[in-house]
Amino acid sequence: MNFANPFKTQSPYKQIETARRERMVIAVCNAAMLFSIPLIVLLTIVMLPLTSPAMALVYTFCAGILPISFIAKRIAISGKPDAGSYVITVYTLLLTAFNSVVLDGIHLMLVPGYLLLIVIAGMMLPPKRSYIIAGLASVTYLAVTILRTYVEPPVSLSLDAIELIVTFLGVMTFIFMVFINQLTTKDLRKALDNATYDLVEMNKKLELASEMKSQFTARTSHELRTPLSAIIVFSDLALRDAYGPLNEKLRNALTHVSHSARHLKRVINDILDLSKIEAGGLEIFDEPFELTDLVETVESSCQQIAEEKSISSSIWVSPKMPGQLNGDIDRLAQVLLNLTGNAIKFTEEGEVEVRIEPQGTSKWCMIVRDTGPGIPEDQFATIFKAYRQLDRTASPSKVKGTGLGLAIASNLVQMMSGDIEVESELGVGTTFTVTLPLRLPETSDEEAAKVLA
Ligand code: ADP
Repeated sequence: MNFANPFKTQSPYKQIETARRERMVIAVCNAAMLFSIPLIVLLTIVMLPLTSPAMALVYTFCAGILPISFIAKRIAISGKPDAGSYVITVYTLLLTAFNSVVLDGIHLMLVPGYLLLIVIAGMMLPPKRSYIIAGLASVTYLAVTILRTYVEPPVSLSLDAIELIVTFLGVMTFIFMVFINQLTTKDLRKALDNATYDLVEMNKKLELASEMKSQFTARTSHELRTPLSAIIVFSDLALRDAYGPLNEKLRNALTHVSHSARHLKRVINDILDLSKIEAGGLEIFDEPFELTDLVETVESSCQQIAEEKSISSSIWVSPKMPGQLNGDIDRLAQVLLNLTGNAIKFTEEGEVEVRIEPQGTSKWCMIVRDTGPGIPEDQFATIFKAYRQLDRTASPSKVKGTGLGLAIASNLVQMMSGDIEVESELGVGTTFTVTLPLRLPETSDEEAAKVLA
């Protein structure tokens, strides 16, 4: 299935807005073409008794709306709605100005005509460009007003003709306004409707893609684990001489196979855990467990690795901590192992210390402190995101990893209604603190307080 990446496409607003303006220019041009026909008929009637070069010019200018609207429409259709808008608005602006100067009485229509024109330009053009039309209208209005004080209109219409033309233009303006108003609201509703529909559809696709990704990861991880377990079991058996004595070369090779297979299994388990968390399919149990069991799990896994790196490691449990707690021991151990594993992995010399202690009467915490390279403060949020690692290219010790440990740990802690915090100083060390709600098996809060006292 092919999913369009929503983050690579242009902002839908821009596309919708350009399409809306294009439709608006086309609609205005259509209306202008339609209205120009009765206007030409009216002018023909009015001008029959008046034959003068000035009237011939007025007639030609007004009749010009028809081809100009057609040209502006074609320009808008060719993908240049702004150019089309300019053509039709500037032409109408000049036409009105010319008629106001030449025809006696028409100047009455100048101000309402220009206001209507500015409103329509505002609908067809981007906000900044519509100021140009407003500026042009002001300049033309001023020029016409000044001209009119010096020049007498060469054509004097009868009062009846002026009334007829002004009434006609007034009625046309009203109809035009209703038409434009209807067009914009219809257009806006349609654009909103389309945008909402697109968003809903995209969301559905993303949800499906995410679900498929999680399912794929869960299935493949599961399928990979079975043969991997077989590799680990059989290489361990061979290393214990179950299939006869091994020579040095074979032993080394098999040790390598066993280590790599174990590492691969850990990575696969991490990916599986994260996809389960993302899919909401990971369950957190709430059962009684012995705190010593948690401590032993971490101790047995970490002490040897710490010794191999010649750094000291210790786990200290506050005597105020109750021996039994309620929770998910496996997931708690996973969190603590991830943090302690990282602390040992990134520390070259010094120590790694784990402290388990109560915090007040309703919480307890696991604190993992190391004397490693530290984490820059601006990276505190990043390290908890999946597949994110710090750029340690400058560091001499390039440590391997997948960038999943902290993402899983923080998700698990969140699912346990807890909190994870990091404090660090570059070159001094890092401290991770996991704070969790204290839940005691079958004991009341009062008894809990006694234990912690
Ligand atoms: P991984 O350890 O597999 O790279 P994590 O999610 O556990 O992934 O950690 C993310 C990154 O955070 C690590 O790559 C490392 O750069 C940094 N980090 C985590 N713990 C420590 C630590 N104790 N000291 C210094 N850097 C750390």
